[in-house]
Amino acid sequence: MNYSKPRFKEKYGNFINGKFVAPEDGEYFENHSPIDNKVLAKYPRSKESDVKKAIAAANNAKDAWGKTSAGERASILMKIADVIEENLNEFAQMETADNGKAIRETVNADVPLAVDHFRYFASVIRAEEGSATELNENTVSLIIREPLGVVAQIIPWNFPLLMLAWKVAPALASGNCIVLKPAEQTPASATFLAEKIADLLPPGVFNVIHGFGPEAGKPLASSGNVDKVAFTGETTTGQLIMQYASKNLNPVTMELGGKSPNIFFNSIMDEDDDFLDKCIEGAVLFAFNQGEVCTAPSRLLIQEDIYDAFIEKVIARTKAIKMGDPFDMSTMMGAQASNDQFEKILSYIDIGKEEGAEVLAGGAAQKLEGDLSNGFYVQPTILKGHNKMRVFQEEIFGPVVAVCTFKDEAEAIEIANDTLYGLGAGVWTRDAHQLYQIPRAIKAGRVWVNCYHDYPAHAPFGGYKKSGFGRENHLMMLNHYRQTKNMLISY
Ligand code: NAD
Repeated sequence: MNYSKPRFKEKYGNFINGKFVAPEDGEYFENHSPIDNKVLAKYPRSKESDVKKAIAAANNAKDAWGKTSAGERASILMKIADVIEENLNEFAQMETADNGKAIRETVNADVPLAVDHFRYFASVIRAEEGSATELNENTVSLIIREPLGVVAQIIPWNFPLLMLAWKVAPALASGNCIVLKPAEQTPASATFLAEKIADLLPPGVFNVIHGFGPEAGKPLASSGNVDKVAFTGETTTGQLIMQYASKNLNPVTMELGGKSPNIFFNSIMDEDDDFLDKCIEGAVLFAFNQGEVCTAPSRLLIQEDIYDAFIEKVIARTKAIKMGDPFDMSTMMGAQASNDQFEKILSYIDIGKEEGAEVLAGGAAQKLEGDLSNGFYVQPTILKGHNKMRVFQEEIFGPVVAVCTFKDEAEAIEIANDTLYGLGAGVWTRDAHQLYQIPRAIKAGRVWVNCYHDYPAHAPFGGYKKSGFGRENHLMMLNHYRQTKNMLISY
């Protein structure tokens, strides 16, 4: 199949109460594709009055939706999954046009995973067992769960449909109504989804508000008429959102930034084994898929006695990464998501150089030909330095890996944990003791061992430290979207 930029309408509305509507003040913003910097479409530049309309629609719908049975909701979620799957190529092409990431990722991972998340939460919501305890022969304690009501959800641009699925699927399954604000850089997939599922859900259950953080996100997170705020994005934005929500004492979940260590122990170094190839892929591929992943393995820690031999292979593999047209299935790395992001990444490469880091690969923007020459492409870059440098400590959110060495297990753990973040980590070893003890010692919510970068719906995901709190995925997620009621019944 040949993939290409899909056709967009000239402009789209907010999705409120089951219909697309224009912003009250008629103001729109242009959404550019980072692939070639051309305008894709216009979206509402929503303000507080638009946000209030969406919240009112959700409040009107919440009682009826909250009373639907788990079975009814599960069957709707299954239909949503089917709709996404039936339109997989169109969703994937929209995501690639909007975000710039390579189509091989959106077709093979991002969209299929979103489908799976809807199916997972449709299944688990029906599989739950109730809880009743007889306290004495006359009294029973009964625990039931109730939806929270209206949930505000604010998501980033790096996995537009998948981040939506992580939030929308469990919230709907639990019986909540939603007001979702997608990132202004990637408004397409939420809009396309709303279009496709408008007939599946009662009006007001799922609402989408477009616009910028301070203009549309802030009134949504500050509203006294929502019952929870679920946020994914930068740590500093998360801090603001907590302040907004705290006025109403609203619960929040925070999925924030990361600076994940990827640790390679000397036992990996056996040239006669395929495992070494897997390790090289593990060091390179998950860092250089544009690098705009919250768990990107952006700090590479290599045991010092294998450093020379291993880094040589890592550099060779990095230089072989194919950059180019994101719609070409053989492209490994596409465009960065926006001009701002592009400039930020390049400025961090300069900061690294000024701090004395050695550039082992890349280190500059990549110029492509034709229309793509206006897009935002950065070479996969490896900087050698030490863990106190800013490029080791601050989230760059681009294809930049900072590499350093360590002597032994204790030093590996010390460097790995010497960060404000605690989202992901990778450990690569053949040593049975290290397989368990090293991940155990790392302060992060997800540690991959001899693998990286898989996000199954049934595995809990979330951060320690400044990477946030609360978990996504797994059935434990459902309780972030529900109240627990206890009834003590005497009879
Ligand atoms: P961002 O914080 O700039 O924006 C995220 C969302 O918040 C957008 O919808 C934006 O419009 C909105 N927003 C911005 N300012 C706001 C404000 N003052 N009030 C309300 N809403 C506001 O983040 P980003 O640049 O879109 O995304 C990248 C970040 O997301 C990275 O830090 C990355 O690590 C993180 N992320 C984390 C996870 C995770 O699961 N932990 C997953 C994906 C991305």
